[in-house]
Amino acid sequence: MAHVPTKARAVIIGGGVIGCSVAYHLAKLGWKDVVLLERKQLTSGTTWHAAGLIAQLRATANMTKLAKYSQELYGDLEAETGVSTGFKRCGSITVALTEERKEEIYRQAAMARAFGVDVEEISPAEVKAKYEHLNIEGVTGGVWLPLDGQGDPANIALALAKGARQMGAQVIERTKAMGVMRNGRALQP
Ligand SMILES: Cc1cc2nc3c(=O)[nH]c(=O)nc-3n(C[C@H](O)[C@H](O)[C@H](O)COP(=O)(O)OP(=O)(O)OC[C@H]3O[C@@H](n4cnc5c(N)ncnc54)[C@H](O)[C@@H]3O)c2cc1C
Repeated sequence: MAHVPTKARAVIIGGGVIGCSVAYHLAKLGWKDVVLLERKQLTSGTTWHAAGLIAQLRATANMTKLAKYSQELYGDLEAETGVSTGFKRCGSITVALTEERKEEIYRQAAMARAFGVDVEEISPAEVKAKYEHLNIEGVTGGVWLPLDGQGDPANIALALAKGARQMGAQVIERTKAMGVMRNGRALQP
């Protein structure tokens, strides 16, 4: 049975990619007293099932900035932690099948560009030239992001957990959080 400290500045419940990322970033900010509890094994939840697509074309400014930051972080994480993340910058193409959808993805592309994302609006012929197996019948336009890619979601989470540990966080598996208290009173779910 793992030793669980009786107090900590931050207790993170759940060792999926989000919990591991929160632990990593708090530790990076210099928080020394961070504990992550995972009821089973790290990455045993949804993270284990993800396809691992890392895409920066997003509908809102904050999501765009977060996706750009993640793409950059995942590119460096393997060198920093020694855990293979499988991250490949293969690029991505998003296609539209209507004029309205084209306008939407072009607007997202313009916003992404404003935040420094490498992105290009492309014609159906250019889509075909980049990926010849695609049937472009009905395609009205596309967006190409050369720095998008795909990685191994479980290993990315494990790399974040290792980075968090290296910076002083405690990661404890097979330990389930049974409740949350505030000022000595249990919070209702
Ligand atoms: C089929 C599929 C494909 C996907 N593809 C992509 C993709 O290509 N790109 C992308 O960005 N996203 C993708 N996603 C979404 C992505 O997987 C999730 O957004 C992400 O994994 C969520 O991470 P999480 O840490 O919030 O949750 P989880 O990975 O589910 O982690 C939650 C953890 O909390 C633990 N836990 C729960 N209760 C307790 C407790 N009481 N005490 C301690 N621990 C507890 C669980 O055991 C679990 O490990 C995909 C999802 C699926 C299902």
